[in-house]
Amino acid sequence: MAIYNAPLQDMRFILNEVFNVEEFWQNNAKLEHVDMDTVNMILEEMAKLSKNVLLPLNRDGDEEGATFADGKVTTPTGFKDAYNQYAESGWIGLGGDPNYGGQGFPKMVTMLAEEMIFTTNQSFSLYPNLTVGATLCLLASGSEEQKQMYLEKMYSGEWSGTMCLTEPHCGTDLGIIKTKAVPNDDGSYNITGTKIFITAGEHDLTDNIIHLVLAKTPDAPAGSRGISLFAVPKFLHDEQGNLGERNSVGAGSIEHKMGIKASATCVMNFDNAKGWMIGAENTGLASMFIMMNYERVTMGLQGLGGTELAYQNALAYANDRLQSRSDSGVKSPEKPADALIHHADIRRMLLNAKANSEASRCFAMYVARQLDFAKFSDDKEVAKKANARVALLTPVAKAFLTDKALEATIDCQQVFGGHGYIREWGMEQIVRDTRISQIYEGTNGIQSLDLLGRKVAKNGGVEMQAFITEIREFVANMTAEHAIKDAVLQATDTIEELTKTVMANIAERKDEINGCAVDYLQATGYMCYAYMFAMMVESANGKEGEFYTNKAKLADYFVGRILPKINAHAEMVKTGSQPMMAFDLDYFTPAEA
Ligand SMILES: Cc1cc2nc3c(=O)[nH]c(=O)nc-3n(C[C@H](O)[C@H](O)[C@H](O)COP(=O)(O)OP(=O)(O)OC[C@H]3O[C@@H](n4cnc5c(N)ncnc54)[C@H](O)[C@@H]3O)c2cc1C
Repeated sequence: MAIYNAPLQDMRFILNEVFNVEEFWQNNAKLEHVDMDTVNMILEEMAKLSKNVLLPLNRDGDEEGATFADGKVTTPTGFKDAYNQYAESGWIGLGGDPNYGGQGFPKMVTMLAEEMIFTTNQSFSLYPNLTVGATLCLLASGSEEQKQMYLEKMYSGEWSGTMCLTEPHCGTDLGIIKTKAVPNDDGSYNITGTKIFITAGEHDLTDNIIHLVLAKTPDAPAGSRGISLFAVPKFLHDEQGNLGERNSVGAGSIEHKMGIKASATCVMNFDNAKGWMIGAENTGLASMFIMMNYERVTMGLQGLGGTELAYQNALAYANDRLQSRSDSGVKSPEKPADALIHHADIRRMLLNAKANSEASRCFAMYVARQLDFAKFSDDKEVAKKANARVALLTPVAKAFLTDKALEATIDCQQVFGGHGYIREWGMEQIVRDTRISQIYEGTNGIQSLDLLGRKVAKNGGVEMQAFITEIREFVANMTAEHAIKDAVLQATDTIEELTKTVMANIAERKDEINGCAVDYLQATGYMCYAYMFAMMVESANGKEGEFYTNKAKLADYFVGRILPKINAHAEMVKTGSQPMMAFDLDYFTPAEA
């Protein structure tokens, strides 16, 4: 069976030493219930739950998968018990609003808990995760009545939530959705349409499911300005929440997928189902995006989880597996061969994963910290700046973390040779499960367009420049002597120059943003990781113990063996979109069937 020990030391290092979280918590009335002792307890409890309950279900869940019969979805054996345990321990409401039964913990804490469940069971994580997403949406845009009705039941896990956006003909371009919402005299709406790929659209874990559905009212303006959001319960209920008759919404089937097989991905049919509008008419997409800013960082954690599990298992294998003699001399003469771990190329793959794991954890926490400033700070200026930083970096956190995660899981799979390709060792499952994180919640291509188009080009690169200034100021104040200092400064120069180049080119070439966005995001991601390593090196500087000295060594590895990739992406951005657009459309004519 796969092994996992939560990286609690690294988590505590990032919380306490890199970001000094207690200072913010203690100086903020809204977070006075949060202290390090409680947080340590939370982390330790989640470490146990994820290792002892969720990890053992991961492989069997993949083998058995979610199943569908007669409109009902059954989750794999053991999922219901695990869900009950998870819900009863209060994990779903950990970050929820205390006014409605949540525990009010900041994102920097919930994020670490989420990392652990994503690491040990990506499929399972999605059930509570979609509910958390739906609660954020309700909290941001719902009426007081809706909040009172839904939030407590969702935080407790009694009811769950979904996000119903995608339709057969559209996923990215939600402006062209067809689902209709026709008003009734009693203030409700009749919702009709088909949504596809709906995670946890139907399952056997909760008594009720609240679907948050994007739909168009009869006279809605065309495009994304005419989308409204509705709460559509699986079972109708009275004002006390007592369940009544079944609403006319149900699963038509579930998808057979490459990975996350234990997560039910449903086709949902709405046939004049009763729904209630959330927020004002035609503001549905905006409500959804408030929530998504929060959740996209969480998707990055799915990538981090895949990396961490793959790394821990590849590391164990590399120590056990004997193959060939080490180039620098025999290491285990009593054995027929030396362990894989002695080979530099094996170490390369492991260190790629390890560097990704530590940098992405730190970066996710950096973004979580900004989210916490935005949500909890009493200082309006601090909150405003944090919001702008979150907007800039959310697409990077989602796309870069998941892109690098897939590479890391493949590196770790490679450590196993042929044994990584067969099912027995579990590595192929990690690769399959992690792959989806690049696709849903807005594909990574779309995240890149968001970064370069909306977050950089639209405001003349002002926010990116502010971020670069922050990084340079940090480096100027560093006391550690380490190669990361120059490396991170060079990375900021690269991004500054690239931003100017793209801004100049887009004036002349209409396809430039579309053609450059992915490489621009990748280059930005490497700069962000460099900044994270600089912060970690500075926090480790002068401290005794292998944990700290190894931080500096891993930063060396990052500078020498990973960061140079920024230059390749920079060159591709400079080349621009012209090589793609140079072809006549005829060149892309598909072969006849
Ligand atoms: C397992 C799974 C679970 C999911 N869960 C949910 C869920 O719970 N709720 C929900 O609503 N949806 C869910 N989805 C849907 C998911 O969010 C969409 O699949 C995704 O957003 C992409 O939409 P699409 O599949 O329609 O692809 P399309 O929008 O058709 O895109 C196809 C390709 O074109 C690219 N593209 C599109 N427009 C542009 C452009 N302007 N410029 C450049 N490239 C472009 C995209 O990046 C992509 O690579 C899930 C999907 C899967 C597979």
